[in-house]
Amino acid sequence: MAKTTIRDINLHGQRTLVRVDFNVPLDEKDGKMVITDETRIRETIPTLDFLIKQGAKVILTSHLGRPKGKVDPKQSLRPVAERLAEILGTDVAFVDDCVGEKAEKVVANMQPGQVVLLENVRFYSEEEKNDPAFAAKLAKLADVYVNDAFGTAHRAHASTEGVAHLVKTTAIGFLMEKELKFLGEEISAPKKPFVVIIGGAKVSDKINVIDALLEKADSILIGGAMAYTFNLALGKKIGKSLSEPDAIGTAKAALEKAKAKGVKFLLPIDDVIVESIDFKARTATPAKTTEVNAGVPDGWLGADIGPKTVELYQSEIAKAKTILWNGPMGVFEVKELAKGTFAIAEAVGANRDAVSIIGGGDSVKAVKRSGQSDKVTFISTGGGASLEFLEGKILPGVAIIADKK
Ligand code: AMP
Repeated sequence: MAKTTIRDINLHGQRTLVRVDFNVPLDEKDGKMVITDETRIRETIPTLDFLIKQGAKVILTSHLGRPKGKVDPKQSLRPVAERLAEILGTDVAFVDDCVGEKAEKVVANMQPGQVVLLENVRFYSEEEKNDPAFAAKLAKLADVYVNDAFGTAHRAHASTEGVAHLVKTTAIGFLMEKELKFLGEEISAPKKPFVVIIGGAKVSDKINVIDALLEKADSILIGGAMAYTFNLALGKKIGKSLSEPDAIGTAKAALEKAKAKGVKFLLPIDDVIVESIDFKARTATPAKTTEVNAGVPDGWLGADIGPKTVELYQSEIAKAKTILWNGPMGVFEVKELAKGTFAIAEAVGANRDAVSIIGGGDSVKAVKRSGQSDKVTFISTGGGASLEFLEGKILPGVAIIADKK
């Protein structure tokens, strides 16, 4: 059922509490906290522009980092208020508390179209506990509740879920709407062929996604360390490659399900292998290519997909009408080991006939670093939330929003 959006409700003069995801990375420079990536702020701008134009009183609430219920000036949202004001081209008042008298007073004096950012909601431990009394304090600030924080929608916290029980009018923002469209609608009824690319470290993290997508995909291309758990399951030699021996049974079950469903399930046919990786220095020594069938020699580990695999995967990707990608093909943080991941990013970007969806996490970084962001259809802002949604789980932050009438 579609959810009510901010287009569907009356916003003028309404105290509109908007849960955004301003959990931006910060770095300390000359004793000041500086935002190092403002993507999450920019992603909310269409929603905020709309709310301002409609004359809503815009009250923004978000978490930042993991302050674990304690006030930590280094995890304050204050720098976000400053940057947001510059981007919006309007004043953004910052309140150094997210509930209570101070916040109530500022909100009571707001005019239509004004914007206020409340301090980090996780400075209160009640937030993550979804404490009803704390949710009631947040609700006291609002006539309307809007959730536009997809990245935390898989958490039932006070600001993402509890508060929505207590405010009469609820809606999703445009960012949330886009996430639900691409990760939900497009994936549940994909244009065929539907090619899924799954990489990253662990089979156990992504097996539920693989399982859910085996119901819909035409082919699944596996890369990253998780390929070695599949190779173990197939009796191949993997040297000291990262793997999960405990997940061999899970890997075997996925391979069997793929066969039963007629889904093409591709594993790498060649690997880039190294003797060691220095993660701090971002170097690896030395790199060479081997055939997967020959096995990874003792003392070596697989760290990227090889050129033949790239070619094989590129030809699958070129045929797709829908592409979903989650997880890098190798240790892409190290330059010599990023070639496979970047080649896949280019192949996804080059298929302009397909709806291409980057399903969050490290694959987002990979697509950005490879310069392909503008060529893909949609990049999810969620990490854990994207995975849970793709698994078919109900996100509490979405479920609580009123259905469209
Ligand atoms: P995930 O969060 O599960 O998508 O995993 C991403 C991480 O997996 C990245 O930090 C990669 O460096 C890592 N990774 C990908 N392939 C390998 C590999 N072959 N060996 C070790 N780590 C890998």
